[in-house]
Amino acid sequence: MRDRVTRTRWRPLRGRRCRVTRIGVDGQCARQQRAKTSSVSVHDCSSYEACEEPLALALRTSGLLDHLARKRVLLKPNMMKASPAERAESTHPRFVAALTALLVNLDCEVLVGDSSGLLGFTQEVLDSTGMTDAVLRAGGKAVNLDAGPFVQLTVGGSVRRALWVPRLLFEVDRVVQVPKLKTHSLTVMSAAVKNLMGLLPGATKCDLHVRLPGAAPLCGGIIDLCCALDDAGVDLGAVVVDGLWGLARKGSPRGELLRKPEVVIASRSLFAADVVCAEVMGLRPEEVPTIRIASQRGIGPASLDEVEVVGNRCALGKTRFEPAWRGLKDRVETAHRLHYWIRGRTVEVVHDPSRCRSDHACIEICPVRCIDLRDGRVRIGPSCIRCFACHAACPHGAIRLRVPRPLRGTFDRRAAGVSTDKLA
Ligand code: SF4
Ligand code: SF4
Repeated sequence: MRDRVTRTRWRPLRGRRCRVTRIGVDGQCARQQRAKTSSVSVHDCSSYEACEEPLALALRTSGLLDHLARKRVLLKPNMMKASPAERAESTHPRFVAALTALLVNLDCEVLVGDSSGLLGFTQEVLDSTGMTDAVLRAGGKAVNLDAGPFVQLTVGGSVRRALWVPRLLFEVDRVVQVPKLKTHSLTVMSAAVKNLMGLLPGATKCDLHVRLPGAAPLCGGIIDLCCALDDAGVDLGAVVVDGLWGLARKGSPRGELLRKPEVVIASRSLFAADVVCAEVMGLRPEEVPTIRIASQRGIGPASLDEVEVVGNRCALGKTRFEPAWRGLKDRVETAHRLHYWIRGRTVEVVHDPSRCRSDHACIEICPVRCIDLRDGRVRIGPSCIRCFACHAACPHGAIRLRVPRPLRGTFDRRAAGVSTDKLA
């Protein structure tokens, strides 16, 4: 745990720019206080068709109503892949649409964005799940967080490197996590804190797995990311969990693994919300690495005793989510590294000269400046981080994605329901 936070900002001073450095514990204290004192609201909600009223109640009792009113808000659902909403692998579009409509009524400008786990296909996932249309009808706008532009964020702790994150995070007033309640083969539970992984564009998510293999290192890294964003001024103090339906064992198509806690959970603290999510799922908070590590660092509660629960306490432990099956990649560090190293390189960005109009849009958006135009041909250099921003930026479809033939089967399984026309 760091004792001090150093912030350096550039501010205009009589026409010149001066360097303003603030040293203090403000960022960390704000986080700790929110974590320790925030209440978590849990309210019954049995149907996605009628979730607006329980959502409004949860926003009011958690203090989010005042926190979000009249703000520019980014909702960050979990859109892992394009599976049907009944599979409960992603946040339900109706849930996000209802939340969007409520916030629009509070005079908020609402954006809804994620970077999908289906690398390179975030826009297709948003479209094919109906998220884009549902959000648009509710008065918001769906955005592809892989489309850039990005900024570099220096992350300390175990990450100790600069990560690319969407610039949009710094352009909105509030970022609200809207995760799905799920078990996870590596991190035991996927809820508020784990949802932050989707802020990393494209295959850079896989790089974090390679760098920090295993549950505890990865969860520590996600918390470091959370702290770095918080220190950089991104307001992450809001979470609304889609806990109507949850997934007890990731990836299984069998219906009996669907769980129905039928609750909405809302809080100003991601860490406190995670403790309540674990209790709702029948998990012990200490077996969830994100909760354990946050409490060891003194920035989150360790158990329900440190959280004020508002609403229906009877929902806690009502359902039992069996822990997800842990494959070799989740148990053996080398296998984990290899799996994510390969996965991060599954989708390659390639240029199709027959469609190119040499308009430089891809060159301008590339965060690592690895695209150049030589002899009228676009060349993509080896330092490409596979963020897929150039693909989203090209108006003529001249940047295409390629999956090596031996890995195509794996990709196709994850891409059910998505049009893969854009693959080269
Ligand atoms: S954005 Fe597309 S059309 Fe424009 S230079 Fe890049 S590849 Fe060519
Ligand atoms: S070429 Fe640049 S913009 Fe395109 S995927 Fe690679 S790093 Fe991203």
